[in-house]
Amino acid sequence: MSKRIAIFPGSFDPITKGHESILLRALPLFDEIIVAIGKNSNKQNYFSIEQRKKWLKQVFSKEPKVRIATYTGLTIHFCKKMNANYILRGLRTSADFEFEKAIAQNNKIMAPEIETIFILPVSELSAINSTIVRDIIRNGGNAAPFVPAGINLKV
Ligand code: ADP
Repeated sequence: MSKRIAIFPGSFDPITKGHESILLRALPLFDEIIVAIGKNSNKQNYFSIEQRKKWLKQVFSKEPKVRIATYTGLTIHFCKKMNANYILRGLRTSADFEFEKAIAQNNKIMAPEIETIFILPVSELSAINSTIVRDIIRNGGNAAPFVPAGINLKV
């Protein structure tokens, strides 16, 4: 059987406990998960790509099945490049559901061999998102409870 490789695409600006949890829970399902930071020119990012990559590497350093990458363009094109047949996404809210549904269904038309796999967050983590974490940081609050242990946000 070919290796089961998944792409976990996102901005990870910055990584949160929500991202960490989804990835760790999905790990037993796959031989390899590539956490892929999408470089989207329309999106104004807060932390640099290098910084976000560094944190992802730090958080998953003890997980041999996890790789960190960056990409531009369509996620399905990146999947093909990496030989990945799965896209991993988290579903926090009904808004996430509607948005993700459209993307996953359209991806399925363009790339039938790629399956999108959704994982629901555990309830304690479902309210965490990077936008709120950035707002807390911008306004001088303590965002440490929302990001993985060992992440130093003061950069
Ligand atoms: P994007 O801009 O692509 O949504 P994010 O970095 O915000 O990138 O999120 C990447 C993925 O992680 C998305 O599938 C998102 O739903 C998921 N995710 C983010 N926060 C959480 C959370 N608290 N619980 C579960 N999934 C989450």
